[in-house]
Amino acid sequence: MPEIRRLAIFGSTGSIGTQSLQVIEAMGGYSISVLSAHSNWRFLAEQALKWCPVRVTLADSSGYTALKEALAGTNIEVVSGDEAAAQAAREIDYDIAINGLVGLSGLRPSYEVILRGIDLALANKESLVLGGDLLSGLQAKTGSKILPVDSEHSAIFQCLLGERIEDVRRLILTASGGPFRTWDHAQISNVTPVQALKHPNWQMGAKVTIDSATLMNKGLEVIEAHHLFGLPSSQIDVRIHQVSIVHSLVQFRDGSFKAQLGKPDMRLPIQVALTYPGRMVMPFLEDDDPSDWPPLQFAPVDLGKFPCLRLAYEALEIGGTAPAMLNGADEVAVSRFLNHEIGFLDIARIVEYAMNACAATPADSLEAVIAADAAGRSIATRFIPG
Ligand code: MG
Repeated sequence: MPEIRRLAIFGSTGSIGTQSLQVIEAMGGYSISVLSAHSNWRFLAEQALKWCPVRVTLADSSGYTALKEALAGTNIEVVSGDEAAAQAAREIDYDIAINGLVGLSGLRPSYEVILRGIDLALANKESLVLGGDLLSGLQAKTGSKILPVDSEHSAIFQCLLGERIEDVRRLILTASGGPFRTWDHAQISNVTPVQALKHPNWQMGAKVTIDSATLMNKGLEVIEAHHLFGLPSSQIDVRIHQVSIVHSLVQFRDGSFKAQLGKPDMRLPIQVALTYPGRMVMPFLEDDDPSDWPPLQFAPVDLGKFPCLRLAYEALEIGGTAPAMLNGADEVAVSRFLNHEIGFLDIARIVEYAMNACAATPADSLEAVIAADAAGRSIATRFIPG
């Protein structure tokens, strides 16, 4: 009998969480210990009745009573509040965790998982963008592995299997370039939220879709790659690859390139993280023949047109809490854009203003990065673009 692995899913009702449940349902061999959601109590209750976790958590306490009633008559513990996910990460028994939470809320659960020495399949890039220094240090002590669930980082992770990191010349993250890749400055300045929410290749949450359109998402991924693979920003490049078939590349010091390719489907990186170091049959595998692929072209990024990517590189160079400030300001700027308060190009203006307004400090505690995030947010909330 193969052993059943116990899984905790943080962000279970989101895009990564629902696809993770599809993958484990199709693969079999897993039980669920924790399902953790932000506010969608109805969907969480539906998932809980199907999977019978030990505990469900809801960040938004306003849904607590309804969730508790929906799960009446079961043994499932229901806990709500801002700290509920991190508390479950600390208290409940599980063998591997998936973190698909959005934004800062993912940081504490990641910290608790790594503190216990448990492996973490990580889709919440903010955990590393904000807490990369802290989590890498902790990981080295506890032996927890961070398995990337981001298509680019999963690609690099797969390319590096069997290789030595000192043999790497550079990593090349691919970017679809978002919907405005070919637009000129005047057109981009009039982009509406509806236009920005239409991503050509991937179906994702609203924040990451806007971040893909500004290329801030790629900037956060550069920072994430730095922490995952231990390489400096000078060895991490970005190329526009519009068709999202090549999910990223590694070039080695002898000049050889390795890449991971395939149709875009997040269920593959999820499965790779869960089955590492082995591989299993992909239950959703469709015919994917290279002769059907479009031509594989690559282009450099125009940093003048996409200043958010430049700002993310700058934050990584500055180090410490600078990426936390960058991300905090970006989260606020994106939500202000989605609320029609500011224009699309104002997102980068706000982030740059926030980064210039406060100095970075060492990112050596959760409190330090949370304070930097709050400072970035506060400045971005007040800033009125001229
Ligand atoms: Mg990605």
